[in-house]
Amino acid sequence: MTHSDRILMGPGPCNPYPEVIEAFNRPVLGHLDPEFIPVLDETGDRLRKVFATDNPLTFPVSGTGSAGMEAAFVNFIEHGDVVVVGVNGVFGGRMCDVAARAGAEVVRVDAPWGTAIDPQRLLDAHPSPKIIAVVHAETSTGVRNDIAPIGAGKGDALLLVDCVTSLGGIPVRLDEWGVDIAYSGTQKCIGVPPGLAPLSVSPRAVGHIVERPQSWYLDLNMIAKYVTGGSARAYHHTAPISMIYALHAGLGVLLDEGLDNSFARHQSCGDALQAGLVDMGFELFAQEGHRLPELTTVVVPTDRLPAGVDEAGVRRQLLDRYGIEIGGGLGEFAGKVWSIGLMGHTARQRNVTLFLAALGEILAA
Ligand code: PLP
Repeated sequence: MTHSDRILMGPGPCNPYPEVIEAFNRPVLGHLDPEFIPVLDETGDRLRKVFATDNPLTFPVSGTGSAGMEAAFVNFIEHGDVVVVGVNGVFGGRMCDVAARAGAEVVRVDAPWGTAIDPQRLLDAHPSPKIIAVVHAETSTGVRNDIAPIGAGKGDALLLVDCVTSLGGIPVRLDEWGVDIAYSGTQKCIGVPPGLAPLSVSPRAVGHIVERPQSWYLDLNMIAKYVTGGSARAYHHTAPISMIYALHAGLGVLLDEGLDNSFARHQSCGDALQAGLVDMGFELFAQEGHRLPELTTVVVPTDRLPAGVDEAGVRRQLLDRYGIEIGGGLGEFAGKVWSIGLMGHTARQRNVTLFLAALGEILAA
C-alpha cells in the first residue's frame, strides 16, 4: 500500500481533487508578480461565492484553520471585551482559549457534546457582548449548530463563526445569516491540502478592527492593504504561492460542480453512510436533525470488537488492509467514538460502500 492509495476518511484532511494536485505543478512566481496577482484576486472572488457574501475583505490567511481562528479573534478584541462562546466540542473550547488569551472576558455557554447549542442560550448569555462566537460544524462531535437565528437576534454584537468543516459541504450563507466574521480551512470540504484559512469580514466588522492587535502576522490592518489594495499592493508577508494555486483550483472545481450539487453529494453520501451504520447495528453519536453529512460520529461498539483487538486496532486494520483512514474521536471522546469524514473529493458513494464492507469484514473476523 503506498500513501497515494490512502482514502482519507478521518476528521482531518480529505483526498484533494486531482485538479488541485495538478495546480501544485504550476511554476512558482514572485508573490507580487503581475501574473500572480489576478490569481489571488480570483481566489478572493471564488471565496466570496462559496461563503455567499459580498464582503470585500475576503481572502485566505496564510496558515491552517487555527490561524483563521486566531485572526478572527485577535483583530476584534481589546482587553476586557465580552465574548460569548458556544461550546459543544473541542473547537468551541479552543475558541474560548484563543479569546481569553487575546484578553477577552469569555462567557462560555456549554451544551452536552453530541447535541446542538440552543441559539437563544447564546443570545441570552450576556446583555451586550462584543462578539458571539460559535462553531458551525463541530468536527469533534459531528454536530451542526444553527447560525441564522443567532444572526437574527445578535443586536449590536458581531457574529463570529467557525466554518472549517462546513464550507463547501453544507450551506454557508454569511450575508443572509448576518455573520460578521467567518473563517475556514482548506483541507475539508474544499478538497485542498491543509495550509490556508479562508477568512471573510463584513464591512461592519471592519469598522471594529482594533488599532493594534496582539498579533503582528495576523494584523488585518496591514494584511488588508496587501489583499485589497488594488494597484498599490504592499508587501506584508510572502504569500504561499503554490497553496494559493491549489485553493484557486479547488474552489474552481467546487464552483464548476455547483455549490448546491456539492451539498447534495455530501448529503447523499452522509445519509448512505449513516443508514449503513445503523443497519449494521451501530449507534450514531450526534443528535438527530443536527447530524453533519460530511462528518459522522459513531459510538465504538466495544462489545463487537474482534477478540484481542481494541478500537485503535480496528482503525489500524482499516488503514493497513484497506488503505482507509478514519479518526478515533477527539477530546473527551477519544477512544469512545469513531469520526468518519466524507469531505470534498472523498465524498463518493464508492468510499461509503468500501468503508462499510471493510468494517464489516474486520468486525466479523
Ligand atoms: N475548527 C474546526 C471546526 C476544526 O475541525 C479544525 C480542525 O480540524 C480547526 C478549527 C483547526 O484547524 P487546523 O487544524 O487546520 O488548524
